[in-house]
Amino acid sequence: MKKKIQNINKLLVNHYGIPERSKKLPDPLEIIIGTILSQNTNDKNSYKAFLNLKKSVKVWDDILKMKPSQVEKLIKVAGLGKQKSQAIINLLKNLKKDNGRISLNHIKKKNDEEIIDELTSHKGIGVKTASCVLLFALDRNICPVDTHVHRILNRIGLVKTTSPEKTFYAIKNFIPEKSAHSFHTNLLRLGREYCTPTNPKCYDCPVESECNFQDKNYSKKRAIKKNDFFLLDSIK
Ligand code: SF4
Repeated sequence: MKKKIQNINKLLVNHYGIPERSKKLPDPLEIIIGTILSQNTNDKNSYKAFLNLKKSVKVWDDILKMKPSQVEKLIKVAGLGKQKSQAIINLLKNLKKDNGRISLNHIKKKNDEEIIDELTSHKGIGVKTASCVLLFALDRNICPVDTHVHRILNRIGLVKTTSPEKTFYAIKNFIPEKSAHSFHTNLLRLGREYCTPTNPKCYDCPVESECNFQDKNYSKKRAIKKNDFFLLDSIK
């Protein structure tokens, strides 16, 4: 599996390059809040919601002084306002209760499994959200798997799994060193531009030579819509 991932990663880097990222790692608390906001919406809307929330407080503790309905209103643009505001408020309350302060800096000393266990113990936070904290805030060599990465890796034939979480665990220990950010980000871009949920553009796909998908689409040529705005690389 490692060799196949290396090959796919190489093709993606040849096509897209190595995605840029800030030299300074972002705050893990901001990454987890951003990832909660990103569920079931696009990166532009979740970034608007993130900025609305961030601009309305001096420190994240201030969220707990607001009514839940105010938080919900601030993040409305990202959808699922009630569910997402509850997850954020619950997380902040738990951090205050367990550690006496609203911060996730204590997780930096823990290993990947301990961090996943701790973060997923909070209601509304799943493995995908925890893995985004590992990659984007702690620079661990972990590739988060959302529905798009899951779809692509199953189409390619790298895995045969029934959920993003199962795909995540299937590939977790096979990501070549220092390549998780590039692999994850370029797969997201591939899923937006070529390996779309319907009518994938296999005729132009940069990883076609590594893909075993049975229903490749070589017809219906359509323009590629470039889309390279990524929420979690925009949180600095
Ligand atoms: S060849 Fe087609 S199915 Fe395979 S990864 Fe590319 S777009 Fe997706």
